[in-house]
Order: sequence, then C-alpha cells, then structure tokens
Amino acid sequence: SEARLSDYERISVLGHGNGGTVYKVRHRRSAQPFALKLFAAGDPSATREAEILKLAADAPHVVRLHAVIPSASAAAAGEAPAALALELMPGGSLAGLLRRLGRPMAEHPIAAVARQALLGLAALHALRVVHRDLKPSNLLVGAGGEVKIADFGAGKVLRRRLDPCASYVGTAAYMSPERFDPEAYSGDYDPYAADVWSLGVAILELYLGHFPLLPEGQRPDWAALMCAICFGEAPEPPAAASEEFRDFVARCLEKKAGQRASVAELLEHPFVAERDAAGAQQVLAALVAEAEQGDL
Ligand code: ADP
Ligand code: MG
Repeated sequence: SEARLSDYERISVLGHGNGGTVYKVRHRRSAQPFALKLFAAGDPSATREAEILKLAADAPHVVRLHAVIPSASAAAAGEAPAALALELMPGGSLAGLLRRLGRPMAEHPIAAVARQALLGLAALHALRVVHRDLKPSNLLVGAGGEVKIADFGAGKVLRRRLDPCASYVGTAAYMSPERFDPEAYSGDYDPYAADVWSLGVAILELYLGHFPLLPEGQRPDWAALMCAICFGEAPEPPAAASEEFRDFVARCLEKKAGQRASVAELLEHPFVAERDAAGAQQVLAALVAEAEQGDL
C-alpha cells in the first residue's frame, strides 16, 4: 500500500527552504522518527529529488529516502510527490549547527565534514549526479558526527559525462565562476567541478563563521555576488590557518574549473587524508552535543 501523510504524526519543524517545510515526524505504526519534507503542489523539484535519492539509495554520505508520499490528487498520474520521508539527521544542518554554536568551527571537525562530503560527492558523481546546491544548510549531521548530503531539489542526472548544466539553479552565493559565465571558462568545462567549488565555499564559511565572499553582514544581492565570484580574488583562509587547510581550500576555490582539484584528488589531500578520521568525527559529534545543550 502507498504511504500517506496521515501515516505520520507531526512533532516539530526542522527547517524551511525554497522547497517547502521539513518536519520532524513519527511514523504512527512503527513509532520511528523521520524527517518529512513537504513540497508545494506540483513542485517539479519534488520529482527530481525523489528520483535522485532513489538512484543514490546505496551511496554513502547521502541522506536516505524512506518513502515517497504521492499527492492526494493522484488522479493525474505522474504528478509530483507531495512529500518525502527522509532519514532523520538529529544534528540538523551545518548552517544550523554554526548558528547554535555561535562561533566558527575549528579545522579538526571541519576535516570530518570535508572528508565525508567528498565521499558523498564521489559516489554521486560516479552515478553522474551533480548536486548544484551544496552549502551548509544542505549538509546534515548525525549524533555521531556523520555527515550526509541532502536537498537534491537542484540536482541533475547527466546523460553524457560532459552534459552542460550551467543553468541558474541552486543558490547563487555558492555558484562557481563557470556557472555564471560559461563562455569565459569554456574549454575546461567540467560540470562536476562546480560542486567542488561550492564545497570549498561552504568549508571556508564553517571556519570563518560567516559567508566568505562578501564582507560580513552585507546583503548577498545577485550583482554583488556575481562581481565577487567572477571578478574578485578567490577567498582564502587567514594566515593563522594551517598550511594543509589553506591549500585544501585553494584547490577547491581555483577559479578555472579545469585547474580545480577533482573529488578524487581532494580525498588524497593531507587536510583530510592524513588526519585521524574517527577522531575528527568525534570532535564534530561533541559540537552537535554542545549545540543541543544550548537549545535546552
Ligand atoms: P529546501 O529544498 O527547502 O532547502 P532542505 O532539504 O534543504 O529543503 O531542508 C531544509 C532544512 O530542513 C535543512 O536545512 C535542515 O535544517 C532541515 N532538514 C532537512 N532534511 C532533514 C533531515 N533529514 N534531518 C534533519 N533535518 C533536516
Ligand atoms: Mg536546502
């Protein structure tokens, strides 16, 4: 039998985005908790997200899809789903974690984020999926410091390896230069490299505690962002950061897509490869616990 909205009991709101609202729910029959992502009627991003999450069902570090809840007016077959029941990630997003901590994150837990996000990206890219909207609010954390990629509303399955996909989907703030201006960067076009850029911006944001491409507090309007991304120098960590971290970020934020490090290269980078991965994950788990304390 098909899943229905009435199978779930609402507990609280986990977050909002462009897609809709995400609730913490309890499945009535099994008493199991889930995250229920509700979409506006007919939202095509619901279909896209369900398709990609099914495709990536075995991928590590990608949030699990438990059920697709069809729209009530299912008379129209093929209509976009009304909601998706997702694995609940108790630590919430990295954007929320940063906010609740009220301070920037240290390199050690950031290495845990980077390593796991890269493993998730490696699996997605092997399936020819580009995420196109990586940012702290789309990276979720478990109580044990596990990191998973979520929100595939802007994702795309490429039919050919070099399918161009420079359309303006996703959040402009985290978009790579070649997605704003494909012509200036043609010749070394790699659709997967855009996700690496976004990961670099996200990771630098965790370290600085604010969005790195604009002065702190400046409203990110489209023109200011495009200028900063396409005409400005790539942002970098301050001199106080370790050489490994500075180099890792620089390899992600290489403005020419063809010169940017690949996911496979970054997985070998000393910033993530030479650190004690289990220890880094534990430090991240401790931050999740601390943020939870602050909520009580
Ligand atoms: P949108 O497409 O609207 O941005 P997201 O899938 O990014 O939707 O979800 C919005 C927010 O809801 C996230 O930033 C996060 O805070 C929360 N959220 C989403 N999925 C989960 C989940 N599985 N577990 C916990 N929190 C979640
Ligand atoms: Mg989102």
